Amino acid sequence: HLPTAELQRLDAAHHFHPFTDKAGLAAKGARVITRGEGVWLTDSEGNRIIDGMAGLWCVNIGYGRKELAQVAARQMEELAYYNTFFQTTHVPAIALAAEIAKLAPGDLNHVFFAGSGSEANDTNIRLVRRYWDVKGKPWRRTIIARWNGYHGSTMGGGSLGGMKPIHAHGGKIDGIEHIDQPYWWGEGGDMDEDAFGLARAQELEKKILEVGPDNVAAFIGEPIQGAGGVIVPPKTYWPEIQRICDKYGILLIADEVITGFGRTGNWFGSQTLEIKPHIMTIAKGLSSGYQPIGGSIVCDEVANVVGGAGEFFHGYTYSGHPVACAVALENLRIMQDEKIVEHVRDVANPYLKERWEALTDHPMVGEAKLVGLMGSIALTPNKEKRAKFASEAGTVGFKTRERCFANNLIMRHVGDRMIISPPLVITPAEIDVLIERARKSLDEAYKIVKD
Ligand code: PLP
Repeated sequence: HLPTAELQRLDAAHHFHPFTDKAGLAAKGARVITRGEGVWLTDSEGNRIIDGMAGLWCVNIGYGRKELAQVAARQMEELAYYNTFFQTTHVPAIALAAEIAKLAPGDLNHVFFAGSGSEANDTNIRLVRRYWDVKGKPWRRTIIARWNGYHGSTMGGGSLGGMKPIHAHGGKIDGIEHIDQPYWWGEGGDMDEDAFGLARAQELEKKILEVGPDNVAAFIGEPIQGAGGVIVPPKTYWPEIQRICDKYGILLIADEVITGFGRTGNWFGSQTLEIKPHIMTIAKGLSSGYQPIGGSIVCDEVANVVGGAGEFFHGYTYSGHPVACAVALENLRIMQDEKIVEHVRDVANPYLKERWEALTDHPMVGEAKLVGLMGSIALTPNKEKRAKFASEAGTVGFKTRERCFANNLIMRHVGDRMIISPPLVITPAEIDVLIERARKSLDEAYKIVKD
């Protein structure tokens, strides 16, 4: 291919990137990734990078799995596309929906396919409002979500999310309210962690009473907030949220786009955190990112009510795309045959957990959290006070991420939290490389911050 500098010039000239400062990109040039194998990426200069983020939390079975390429090619030859509208279907969609229903807990038995997590959350908005319409309570429209939650970047997904910069780009749709997140390290003050978790969950009840209990359709939350900084809630949090949703008869949506398909050491984060949702949002790990596919897994009650009231006026051209479904099905087969969920439990705890938590001996690392293979560390100038850096939020995190990048480790920053979510197939030897590079990068960033 073309030399790196020329690729970067063309990229900056014509490629309008998501979540990227265009001018900054033109000044610096994007790193051009050319290959992937297991947990490793190669760039156009031949550097080997360890991917501590599995792309965008999605390449769960690792890069370069030929079985998936072969299934995609076979499916394209046999039936490259057909839709699932108007009483038609096809084998890949049938088989995948049945497989997901088998893996999902409880009576989450019905899958509405979408092309992404954002689209699936847009589906959820329509699904829960339609549910209450059919139940004869069309005034039940408000959906309660959380500040600093992330549910995608379509107008629906971005509105459910609690990221203010996204709301500032084009506003948000009506009927969505936000409550504070259960982020003890950053916002817990003098409270102990369990009391704080309870208090933050009880904000849901306050919000329900403020909006009027009969006006609330649903609550949505990620079992563990991902893009918000891998915020692991205090153990008191979800049971209280569940109690409040049950008390007011509100539908509970667990956004499992990151936590689904093994990330937390169970098939779904709802199992790890003992949540019983009516609807789950899925995407990413469903196909390990090999094809764009997402969906909503819907419980019997919601599916029967909405599905029992005539046509559901909603769907996407690529809902249940045959190639995406065939690839996702093969991905789930590999995960089961290779016991990847069990592998997550084996390598996460104690192997990665011990090494990850040991990072708190670094002068700049306050807390370290890890559930399964999603983890975060908080960067701080003062651990005891859980203090924030005087610089603009995220400056130190950004510098640390840059050092990681220079040391051929992909680790993301959210403000001054550093996060990881490696491919689920990572081995102990690769964990050693990840930790060694993380330590080196932290040391280098600390030196810059101190000086
Ligand atoms: N929900 C959660 C929890 C996510 O983390 C994401 C993406 O990161 C989304 C939804 C949106 O998914 P997509 O980018 O596939 O639209």
